[in-house]
Amino acid sequence: MSEPSPFEASPEALPARADVVIIGGGVAGVGAALALAERGVSVLLCEKGRVAAEQSSRNWGWIRRQGRDPRELPLMTESMALWRRYAGALDTDIGFRQTGCTYLCTTPAEAAEREAWLVHARDHDIPSRMLSRAEISGLLDTRDSGMHGAISTPDDCLAEPSLAVPALARHAQSLGATIFEGTAVRTLMRIGGRVSGVMTEHGPVACDAVILAGGAWSRPFLENAGIALPQLAVRSSALRTGPARANAAPPAGMIGAGGASIRPRRDGGYTVGRAGAARLDLVPAAFRHLFAFLPMLQKRWRIVDLGLGRSFFGPLGHHRWREDEVTPFEQMRILDPAPDARLLTDVWQKAQALYPQLSGAEKVQGWAGMIDVTPDEVPIIDGVPGLPGLVVATGLSGHGFGLGLGAGRLAAELATGEAPCVTPDPYRMNRFAASRKRAA
Ligand SMILES: Cc1cc2nc3c(=O)[nH]c(=O)nc-3n(C[C@H](O)[C@H](O)[C@H](O)COP(=O)(O)OP(=O)(O)OC[C@H]3O[C@@H](n4cnc5c(N)ncnc54)[C@H](O)[C@@H]3O)c2cc1C
Repeated sequence: MSEPSPFEASPEALPARADVVIIGGGVAGVGAALALAERGVSVLLCEKGRVAAEQSSRNWGWIRRQGRDPRELPLMTESMALWRRYAGALDTDIGFRQTGCTYLCTTPAEAAEREAWLVHARDHDIPSRMLSRAEISGLLDTRDSGMHGAISTPDDCLAEPSLAVPALARHAQSLGATIFEGTAVRTLMRIGGRVSGVMTEHGPVACDAVILAGGAWSRPFLENAGIALPQLAVRSSALRTGPARANAAPPAGMIGAGGASIRPRRDGGYTVGRAGAARLDLVPAAFRHLFAFLPMLQKRWRIVDLGLGRSFFGPLGHHRWREDEVTPFEQMRILDPAPDARLLTDVWQKAQALYPQLSGAEKVQGWAGMIDVTPDEVPIIDGVPGLPGLVVATGLSGHGFGLGLGAGRLAAELATGEAPCVTPDPYRMNRFAASRKRAA
């Protein structure tokens, strides 16, 4: 991965009050800060480590509508529009480009599944289509690709994650948002049954509303406040290459396949990974929420690896602390899990076999990130039932770089009581209540 680009946090002392406090400086938190600052709402964003140092700089950089759960498509359409608008207004080239996205199908079943998704594309005016055999061969620069089909969406986009979110955060500051790094929020403060502020490691801040956009940390944060959130974290690994040989076929945007997916980088190399391949570390919460997650695990058992991770009682395994003690957020400023070396060796082999564009490229670096995932892999963006003043924007489930600006905007609208840009119903927190009741 590339380190997130330098970001100069707001210089003044922590304010005693803001209209809205945002917990987390990833794409969702920064998206919320942008939306609030644009509306003239006073906003403080607290990031325990560095802006975008966790998932938001570790992802592949795909900003796509293709293949999404239909429940996400209205919000993703909003998010795409925000990416286009902000990319033109930033002080930095974040590598945002419309390159299109193609997914190759290695089995007839996969091709049928992708083709069936075109119904949703039509419903949402997305120009996706299945490619012909000749187009697939052209894309892969081969006579016979052996593929059973491919779906392609010409208006999907990409950006450089390490540049994008820090630049968006600077833009939020220029609009009036206050952003603090090295500032963990330890607990929520409450008056009369509603949220009245946050206790940070540097002292209290009063506010009317809090938006929790803490990525993988959202679940332990809420558990400490006595609120159950069905969300687990899976470790996902990726690698980057140096530039390909000068005479290799030019990159054709983002290309995905079961074995390996690639994205051309601004530095001439490629980011390479395998969609869905991840390791679920068995923290205590994994047992508490096992029933809710069983269908997802059954669907993905071939690619999700279960293991007793080092984190059983590690940062994401803790869920009880007081406001006057050092919390896991301060003990681990940046969650930087080790990449799965064996998986990456296999992904790299498959990638070289699949994509002639990679010929001659050197594997440069592997890394991993902790993805926060919900049982149905659709985010939770909602006010917390029974605790007015708290809005959650989390569980972006491995595809939140693209969706994050929309998720942040929706969270901002829920926090201020403004009419939401899309219906929030698909993202309600209580949609998992039925499975919780069955488990009880
Ligand atoms: C390897 C990999 C590849 C991916 N590829 C893609 C892709 O191509 N396209 C796509 O759309 N998505 C992708 N994703 C998913 C995407 O990166 C995430 O969904 C998205 O970045 C989540 O953003 P977030 O703001 O919710 O969380 P994060 O980026 O994790 O940010 C949460 C922040 O909250 C901070 N925080 C937590 N608790 C506290 C606290 N108490 N006080 C203060 N700060 C706190 C953390 O330090 C962190 O910085 C990928 C993810 C990974 C790991």
